[in-house]
Amino acid sequence: MIKKMLIANRGEIAVRVLRACRDLGIQTVAIHSTADADAMHVRLADESVCVGPPPPRESYLNVPSVISAACVSGADAIHPGFGFLSENATFSHMVEEHGLTFIGPKADHIAMMGDKIMAKKTFAHLGLPIVPGSEGAATNIDKAMKMADEIGYPVLIKAACGGGGRGMKVAYSRLDFVEAYETARRETSIAFGNDNVYLEKYLVNPRHIEFQIIADRYGTSIHLGERDCSLQRRNQKIWEEAPSLVLTQAFRDDFGRKIANAVGELGYLGVGTLEFLYEDGQFYFIEMNTRIQVEHPITEVITDVDIVREQILVAGGNKLSLAQRDVQFRGHAIECRINAENSDTFLPSAGVVVNYHCPGGPGIRVDSALYDGSTVPPYYDSLIAKLIVHANDREQCMARLRRALGEYVIDGIETLIPLHLRLVDDPSVIAGNFDIHFLERTGNGAGA
Ligand code: ADP
Repeated sequence: MIKKMLIANRGEIAVRVLRACRDLGIQTVAIHSTADADAMHVRLADESVCVGPPPPRESYLNVPSVISAACVSGADAIHPGFGFLSENATFSHMVEEHGLTFIGPKADHIAMMGDKIMAKKTFAHLGLPIVPGSEGAATNIDKAMKMADEIGYPVLIKAACGGGGRGMKVAYSRLDFVEAYETARRETSIAFGNDNVYLEKYLVNPRHIEFQIIADRYGTSIHLGERDCSLQRRNQKIWEEAPSLVLTQAFRDDFGRKIANAVGELGYLGVGTLEFLYEDGQFYFIEMNTRIQVEHPITEVITDVDIVREQILVAGGNKLSLAQRDVQFRGHAIECRINAENSDTFLPSAGVVVNYHCPGGPGIRVDSALYDGSTVPPYYDSLIAKLIVHANDREQCMARLRRALGEYVIDGIETLIPLHLRLVDDPSVIAGNFDIHFLERTGNGAGA
């Protein structure tokens, strides 16, 4: 049994993990950069260790510092949260080499899914529907052009080890292929340190629908249904819902079971998310994330399963505390990502938070690390809070969301609250009628 957890992250996810640890009676060690000495995750933890100066490479991504902090503080496990080191197979391997438990899947599975071409091959082999595309990397322009002709335009050029929507370019015809290919390779090289790209059929009006899975080491793997994350800006999610409005319970049961079985066959351990695009009634797998996701709370509130708790328990060697038949879906949930960004341009905004007032009342959950006087430093991801709303049906959920957004006060910095206030009153959003390009089409972020 895990007794002391080092949480290798910051912000709201560090606080979320800390809460799960406290509920389980596990001691907590926070790490922080010098910019985060007064941060909420540090204040709430039992102990804290400074791991370096503000730039992530020198602190939260500094593997020797993070592992030393765990050893010095006597932690027996490390939870990576999301982002930072959470999908770094070498890190997870090193954690285990030091005799610590990594709260995540085996290093081999992280590496397999981190290579998106390999991930698609693996799940195609296990019988899941895959987005059509190149079977290997598009290593030079001639090969890439040939692949694009075979796939058929429009095609999307993507980073093989991508993330965060970076290194992605669309080519609508042969005429713009060369430029799109070269730009994607350049951006991929800057973002990920190698320029491996691959091609996919570009779906024109899909929804993004993903399934949450969780598996233990004794052969039980279950799904917790889906989340619709179609409302995105620049291929990054900003509003998520569960369940999706386009699936029936019978379909969810059947497709969810297939996914959980595929993951079970791999011998996967822990939580994971299989992401799909959905167009004209068809699902197309695009990637698997091998960590807890930002939007996990909407699944938690409709299933009443504490996903982070289960994640820690299965990593520690326990059996899953529930079977598929125990998973019931109740009502509707929406999460709004409150980023420290201008609502029109999406430019990041740093500063000191003043007049902080958090909404409450029936059906409202706020996951954040903000407090009155807290600093939002310029060095990190702009996600500062998540507003999660739950109700018996979608209409009530939207009404509660409107109320909660109206109550939420975060002064001193710019946030996405004004954008969410627009969305909650938008007739297409109210009707549930949107795809991944909705925000671009409606001019949101056009000023960027
Ligand atoms: P990342 O790992 O960079 O987030 P993903 O493969 O998860 O990349 O894709 C992120 C988003 O990009 C998707 O949610 C979707 O909006 C868009 N996208 C990805 N693949 C395609 C595709 N083949 N056609 C159309 N849009 C796509």
